[in-house]
Amino acid sequence: MTEAPDRVCVVGAGPAGLSTARALKRLGIAYDQYERHTDVGGIWDLDNPGTPMYESAHFISSRRVSGFFDFPMPGTYPDYPDNRRILAYTKAFADAYGLRGTIRFGTAVTRVERDGDAWAVELDDGTTHTYRAVVCATGVTWHPRVPRHPGTFTGAIRHARTYRRLEEFRGRRVLIVGLGNSGADIACDAAVAADAAFVSVRRGYHVIPKHVLGVPADEFDHRGPRLPLCLTRPLMSALLRVVQGDLTRYGLPRPDHKLFESHPLLNSRLVHHLQHGDVTVKPDVAGFDGARVVFTDGTSERIDLVLYATGYDWAIPYVPERYFAWRDGRPELYLTAFSRAHRNLFGVGYLEVNSSAYTLFDHISDLVARYLHDQRHAPGRAAAFDGLIARHVPDLSGGTRFVPSARHTAYADAHALRHCLTRVRERVGWPGLEPGMFDGVRAAAARDTEVRS
Ligand SMILES: Cc1cc2nc3c(=O)[nH]c(=O)nc-3n(C[C@H](O)[C@H](O)[C@H](O)COP(=O)(O)OP(=O)(O)OC[C@H]3O[C@@H](n4cnc5c(N)ncnc54)[C@H](O)[C@@H]3O)c2cc1C
Repeated sequence: MTEAPDRVCVVGAGPAGLSTARALKRLGIAYDQYERHTDVGGIWDLDNPGTPMYESAHFISSRRVSGFFDFPMPGTYPDYPDNRRILAYTKAFADAYGLRGTIRFGTAVTRVERDGDAWAVELDDGTTHTYRAVVCATGVTWHPRVPRHPGTFTGAIRHARTYRRLEEFRGRRVLIVGLGNSGADIACDAAVAADAAFVSVRRGYHVIPKHVLGVPADEFDHRGPRLPLCLTRPLMSALLRVVQGDLTRYGLPRPDHKLFESHPLLNSRLVHHLQHGDVTVKPDVAGFDGARVVFTDGTSERIDLVLYATGYDWAIPYVPERYFAWRDGRPELYLTAFSRAHRNLFGVGYLEVNSSAYTLFDHISDLVARYLHDQRHAPGRAAAFDGLIARHVPDLSGGTRFVPSARHTAYADAHALRHCLTRVRERVGWPGLEPGMFDGVRAAAARDTEVRS
């Protein structure tokens, strides 16, 4: 056993783990970072085994509002960069702040256990190390959720996680089950390449095009004056009606919820393919009958490949369930990050919001770093935050009644979350993120690179 009780353990070197590393480094907090893959980038690296990424994937949120704090994506990037650009950008982030040197690649964390006031972290090389804190940043899209349907099917059944490129659809009749953002993308690939493409949906969706009046839809939201929901919703609904018309014309069920009450489906290609009959909407799957899939309306189709785009179960398999108070498949974490029952056990990246995530990762990892810093250097402030962790139950819905589904259990409105984080900082006495605050980390990384070369 190697004793290192003064250090912090960061698990994962995807965007959330890298954000955490930068925040810890800025405050001079010693840490070790473990990444089971051979490089940084998380799901954006198509070579990372088990990634849900596919070749046609683009960012769903747009470039200007989606980068890490104070590290904008290159101006040469399009409004919605593809997965290769996001990976290159994430690698550039790791390099700019000199984060790679601290990462142990090819090393998985296999178990985390309480050890007195500290945490024992077991690695897949069989060693165990003791840390003062553990930050889990291993993502939420690694454990496919696959529904079971009755009957026997003679075609192929796969989860969307295994899908990589549209050539897989050539010469086949394909059914995509589920119409989240990935399902919609993949249905569009099938529309182009498959012999016949179907998408099975249980409910109707509000489809928001990626550009509204020539501006990326989410930038529109960030740039314009912040209107109350009672104005934004009818305005946006009217705009969508003008631009798209009634989507039930193309077979999509009428949504049973208001706009913004569920995770937005941002896609500009799907409506085009529906309008051109390249993809056909079917209702929920009732079961299988040999080579045919039977739907709840009694119709059936001969299908060669069923691809379940039915989402992912959240899991942090290396932390015994008792440490995170799981509810409806989500860990209960204060401000999406802080275990209420176990001091110095954190999660960064365990949030679902109606917006881009990276800057939020930075806001949250900064709080984690400040809290750890103040435990040693300003215990009064750390104690004030302990009080909030124990008792503060903020409403992060922003007044929106989200659809009651597992996905929306821990769902947050991004504006409400940002506002809450600001209030919390004010109460504890922590300043907000400021441009330039990471310049020192960057300069030190540049000096290190110069010395090495
Ligand atoms: C198709 C698609 C499009 C998306 N588009 C957007 C978008 O437009 N905007 C946006 O903000 N977000 C988007 N997302 C969300 C996406 O999840 C985030 O962009 C981001 O990748 C999450 O980062 P993360 O670090 O939390 O997790 P991940 O990217 O999953 O990284 C986790 C890392 O942890 C490692 N790891 C796992 N287990 C262990 C272990 N036991 N030990 C050591 N290492 C481990 C993994 O190898 C991985 O490198 C999209 C997601 C998908 C699937």
